[in-house]
Amino acid sequence: MTRPTLICGAGIAGLWAALKLAPRPVVLLTGAPLGEGAASGWAQGGVSAALAADDSAALHAHDTIAAGAGLVDREAALALAEGAAAEVAELAELGAPFEREGADWSLSREAAHSRPRVARVKGDGAGAAIMATLIEAVRAADHIEIRDGWRAVSLLGDASACTGAIAQGPDGEIETIDTDTTLLAMGGAGGLFALTTTPAIAQGQAMAMAARLGAVIRDPEFVQFHPTALNAGLDPAPLCTEALRGEGAILVDQTGHRFMKAIHDDAELAPRDVVARAVHRQNASGKGAFLDCREA
Ligand SMILES: Cc1cc2nc3c(=O)[nH]c(=O)nc-3n(C[C@H](O)[C@H](O)[C@H](O)COP(=O)(O)OP(=O)(O)OC[C@H]3O[C@@H](n4cnc5c(N)ncnc54)[C@H](O)[C@@H]3O)c2cc1C
Repeated sequence: MTRPTLICGAGIAGLWAALKLAPRPVVLLTGAPLGEGAASGWAQGGVSAALAADDSAALHAHDTIAAGAGLVDREAALALAEGAAAEVAELAELGAPFEREGADWSLSREAAHSRPRVARVKGDGAGAAIMATLIEAVRAADHIEIRDGWRAVSLLGDASACTGAIAQGPDGEIETIDTDTTLLAMGGAGGLFALTTTPAIAQGQAMAMAARLGAVIRDPEFVQFHPTALNAGLDPAPLCTEALRGEGAILVDQTGHRFMKAIHDDAELAPRDVVARAVHRQNASGKGAFLDCREA
């Protein structure tokens, strides 16, 4: 008998994988109550894909590689760019309310993209809208057993094979789940930092569990920082959507000087790491960094 695939995590990655595994049986540990604790629900701008008539997967991959300062795996970039348009179409078919302009997709421009390429969903509510669609589909799917509020505590097996996980239920109960296939979709590690825009639960647990089992962890230093968030003394900090700079918002210091122009040809639309570092330097030097949306 086929043993269910164990999926740990119920953001877009875990939910989408669970649906795509049909008709194979799946046990889904949601970590937090289903729909909560996932960065996916907080995503704002939309999904990047070559959907415009004057765009292509090759150009999307080219922009991705150019933004990566020589560190991008070309094959992975191309595979992601080539698959993106079909994924957006599939999500839309499932019911995700992507915005349209007639027969065309409604697309925003964001940093490091040479074309408007971010498919919008419900204004800046892309993640919440896609999550709602996926949750409805997962709840209706016969092949998925949802363990709401259950979280993985550690993995079973050794470096040669993962054989399941020890899971903890919402009331503290512990259960061993044996399986042949385990998929870790437990989000990132942004919550480890003093200030983050991601849910606090995202503390790299999947990487830690896998490393403890003997897995080799690749590129853990790659952590994405949003360059602009509301400085309101909150952690997580509310994001000021990337799309604002795409629509013309500029970054100025406390004297009103637009500092990104001297740093990169694309100014505020430079790759996100370049803008994030510049904002950090401005703040550390006391000059300040402010997002000026008056002309956007
Ligand atoms: C504010 C914000 C805005 C963003 N905007 C965009 C955007 O516009 N476009 C874009 O492409 N990307 C955007 N991103 C990035 C995007 O949201 C993430 O890359 C994506 O959602 C990651 O999905 P995921 O399913 O891998 O992880 P998550 O959505 O973080 O899901 C992780 C899941 O794992 C669960 N979990 C945690 N620990 C355990 C455990 N021990 N056991 C079981 N489950 C566990 C959590 O409860 C959650 O269900 C944004 C991110 C943020 C924070």
